Amino acid sequence: MIMRYAGLSRLRKNLPVQCAIDAPAPEGTGETVLGLVAGEIVLRPTGRTIMAQGQVAVTVELACARCLRPHPVKLDVLVARECCLMQIDDPEAYRERDDDLPPIPILSGDEIDLSELVRQLIILHTPPRSLCRPDCKGLCDQCGADLNEGPCGCQQQGVDPRLAPLKSLLKET
Ligand SMILES: [Zn+2]
Ligand SMILES: [Zn+2]
Repeated sequence: MIMRYAGLSRLRKNLPVQCAIDAPAPEGTGETVLGLVAGEIVLRPTGRTIMAQGQVAVTVELACARCLRPHPVKLDVLVARECCLMQIDDPEAYRERDDDLPPIPILSGDEIDLSELVRQLIILHTPPRSLCRPDCKGLCDQCGADLNEGPCGCQQQGVDPRLAPLKSLLKET
């Protein structure tokens, strides 16, 4: 699953390249991606590196932090990342840099390959915690029932969830 654009000769001549994206997500994002990655990125030469600017949208399926239910989360990603053409520029120079975000190589053979850029963007913009809906009631900490589907019948009132482990400990002794 690779997004390729044969615009390398334009970049070599210091001309911007417009890349319309409408392709399956690259492998290795670690998330289930629903549908295609869509958007537009302009690659603009800036001397030694290439600036990638634009916008892409992708929908990932995440587990709710409260009830674990898988639900779609749309990511609208503004792109402004430094890239480089590894086979044109000196790769050694980039290895010596200690930036947090080194330029992303976007060259693969004779073509521009945006899969690494898009892969990193998806990982970077996937929220670490997400809810299936803002008022998700979560799971009962006693019987594990999904409280969105109605009350489970357990006595919950007055028990601080932080004390629940203590309570179950007392129950055992
Ligand atoms: Zn939920
Ligand atoms: Zn319960």
